[in-house]
Amino acid sequence: MLDIQNIRKDFPILNREVNGKPLIYFDNAATSQTPQQVIDVIVDYYTKYNANIHRGVHSLSQEATDAYEQARQKIQSHFNAKHSHEIIFTSGTTHGINLVANGFASLLNDGDEIIVSALEHHSNIVPWQMLCEKTGAKLKVIPMNKNGELVLSDFDSILNENTKLVFVNHISNALGTINPIETIIEKAHTVGAAVLVDGAQSCPHIKPDVEALDVDFYVCSAHKICGPTGVGMLYGKEEWLKKLPPYQGGGEMIAEVSFEKTTYADLPHKFEAGTPNICGGIAFGAAIDYMNSIGFDNIANYENELLEYATNQLQCIEDLKIYGTSNNKTSVISFNVGNIHPYDIGTLLDKMGIAVRTGHHCAQPIMDFYKIPGTIRASFMFYNTKEEIDTFIAALKKAIMMLS
Ligand SMILES: *Cc1c(COP(=O)(O)O)cnc(C)c1O
Repeated sequence: MLDIQNIRKDFPILNREVNGKPLIYFDNAATSQTPQQVIDVIVDYYTKYNANIHRGVHSLSQEATDAYEQARQKIQSHFNAKHSHEIIFTSGTTHGINLVANGFASLLNDGDEIIVSALEHHSNIVPWQMLCEKTGAKLKVIPMNKNGELVLSDFDSILNENTKLVFVNHISNALGTINPIETIIEKAHTVGAAVLVDGAQSCPHIKPDVEALDVDFYVCSAHKICGPTGVGMLYGKEEWLKKLPPYQGGGEMIAEVSFEKTTYADLPHKFEAGTPNICGGIAFGAAIDYMNSIGFDNIANYENELLEYATNQLQCIEDLKIYGTSNNKTSVISFNVGNIHPYDIGTLLDKMGIAVRTGHHCAQPIMDFYKIPGTIRASFMFYNTKEEIDTFIAALKKAIMMLS
């Protein structure tokens, strides 16, 4: 059992008011809030040992380098990667995906095929379209059904020896569906295709084991797991990271440079050109510590309770339709009410201090599937409460009354 009231004390932002009402923050799938433990690490870095890493012989630089590399090891052990050099610091999920897409541009040929899922975030669609344009490879899509689940029998029929890459998110940010990535990875490997999993939405709720999954690439963003924005990680199997060319050139990523020829640094530095987000990386490690101190089993159990509690109440509201009704989903609820525009409800909820997301959630193909412009999305984290859900439901009913 989690002591939620105690946990909430870790998040100073939860004490503030919005439009004269206590803040109720239900936009966690867009970004999570930051606990004092992580804020302290950020303040500590800039107060005590801000310096550039991997270069200086002076003490501050060594302290910063040690803290940054310790964070890499924390991330390695959290995701159960075999080597710490398989963890590449990025600016976030989007950067990680682009890094891999760019690398594959030199490995793909005309006639090769790439498979993505119908449930993808734009950041997991657009880089592959750009890659296909560059290489002549073809993009194929695993379709979804009305419940917001992938249709795996159709995956079987598009998977073949030409498939070089499969990209799928672990959990859909728009609908909350948990995708059967174990099966997808296993099937993709039977034809020798590599698999990249977008873990931006899963990392806040579960602890992925990249070794057990046998996944080739896994990406996430720190800001969705109580860390700061602008930092994330790419896990890649050593053999793949060795094969892929560097993404950006610059300092940090070289072994030797002359005007005739440059040789690249070893992993992970080959992919980390320029001065990285040092403080962000260290705070990312602190965020992982914080999440583990609460415990991912506790987090998943409690968030499931919140999901069930909110779903049951929402289902009682007339004309309310929930999108994404898989049995296997996390605490993300996308819905619409009658013909009311999501934006109008979102605006009224904000007046009552409640933050939800409205729109297409960077997943327009999903909205097209349901033939809607967008949804209202409420997404919960372990620091949310049933009382907040009660207030939200009452506010929602009030908004519906005002708009109909
Ligand atoms: C948030 C999110 C992204 C993008 O993450 P950034 O931090 O903006 O790079 C990608 N995919 C999914 C599923 C997401 O939820």
